[in-house]
Amino acid sequence: MNVSDSEMIKEILIENNDEVTENIDEADVLLFNTCSVRQHAEDRVLGRISNEASRKSKKRNLKIGVIGCMAQRLGDDLHKINKNIDFVIGVDQYKNLPKIIHKKRVKDFTETTVNNSEVYENIYPIHSGKFNAFVTIMRGCDNFCTYCIVPYTRGRERSRNSEEIIKEVELAASKGFKDVTLLGQNVNSYKYEDVDFAELLKQVNEIDSIKRLRFVTSHPKDLSDSVIKVMGESEKICEHLHLPMQSGNTDILKRMNRGYSYEHYRGIITKLRNKMPDIAITTDIIVGFPGETEEQFNDTYNAMKEIEFDYAFTFKYSPREGTIAAKYTDQIPEEIRLERLQKLIKLQEEITLKKYRSKIGTIQELYVEKVSKKSDKELAGRTRDFKITVFEGSQNLIGKFVKVKIVDAVGWTLKGKLIE
Ligand code: SAH
Ligand code: SF4
Repeated sequence: MNVSDSEMIKEILIENNDEVTENIDEADVLLFNTCSVRQHAEDRVLGRISNEASRKSKKRNLKIGVIGCMAQRLGDDLHKINKNIDFVIGVDQYKNLPKIIHKKRVKDFTETTVNNSEVYENIYPIHSGKFNAFVTIMRGCDNFCTYCIVPYTRGRERSRNSEEIIKEVELAASKGFKDVTLLGQNVNSYKYEDVDFAELLKQVNEIDSIKRLRFVTSHPKDLSDSVIKVMGESEKICEHLHLPMQSGNTDILKRMNRGYSYEHYRGIITKLRNKMPDIAITTDIIVGFPGETEEQFNDTYNAMKEIEFDYAFTFKYSPREGTIAAKYTDQIPEEIRLERLQKLIKLQEEITLKKYRSKIGTIQELYVEKVSKKSDKELAGRTRDFKITVFEGSQNLIGKFVKVKIVDAVGWTLKGKLIE
């Protein structure tokens, strides 16, 4: 979401005749787009701001701005945390950025007014990925999972006009993008007038030169049968779904306010696999949520064994000030959270390798993205189910679709042999 927001912000600035530079030495303004989802993300960006602030001694007019969820969450306090920060701009105020960065003096400036109807219409971002375009279809979140800061920083859920979304995808297609990812905190609850998410998927699927279509993030409580049906029927929708489970224990899920049981989650996986036998499923898991007992953790461990995700993003619970779970008195000690995390990572590594190995001997379509990092004779691309695959081939294949036969799986990379 932040990558996508940064692309949009670049477009806002460029329209105002500002220039974006990849060379930090040239910059007159540094913008830090920040994430608040875990404390670790906030600590890292504060460290980064401190490092870059030393540039002010060489360039007196250099301005430093903080944007994104941390700006929204901390507002004025950020000026106290680091005196080198000139301005703090919240997530609904990006249209004011050009005006603010051109102020003669912007010291200790903060603008974090909430605007729950801002969807940044009529801004068509310059997608920075070469082959995949991220298209935001909705902003905010109303789910209030008890651990999560997002509804507080990003505000109320609102969907963009579907015609605007289609226009943005068509524009990306006309610039040569063939792979599109629709973005939102909970894409399954997309609704604009009479267009719901299933209908939006159908409409994007119709756009001629788009060859691959993905979407994140899906919420298990809202992933409807009609979306599963469209996924099965639309040739462009890739056989890959990211479906955060968070926990394999229903009591913990209830305490997280997730709105589904483990059995419901398991049922969705069965439906998906029945419709799309080759579908890759990835997930997010939180360990050490307040009150999580050893048995409840084991339920998550066993659920991961049972379901066999292709990949899992596993996180230690991080208390976020202002959320309900941060107030629970039964917080889990750091050592136990870490121990549980390590157990899950180890288990998932084994499962991921098994999943990748099961692809050996199959024929896969790749969208070739680049020369491989390890060898310039090899190219790297992604399968429809999102697995990075390397194969020997000439560089003129970059940007093309090819067929390869999978011959090996090393770590999280498949090796293929070009056949077409
Ligand atoms: N809207 C998406 C993603 C939100 S944030 C969804 O509902 O899935 C991405 C992931 O960060 C979440 O899925 C969750 O696993 C993790 N996360 C969110 N808040 C967290 C916290 N306080 N501590 C640890 N992980 C957290
Ligand atoms: Fe956070 Fe839950 Fe909303 Fe995802 S659905 S952004 S985890 S509150």
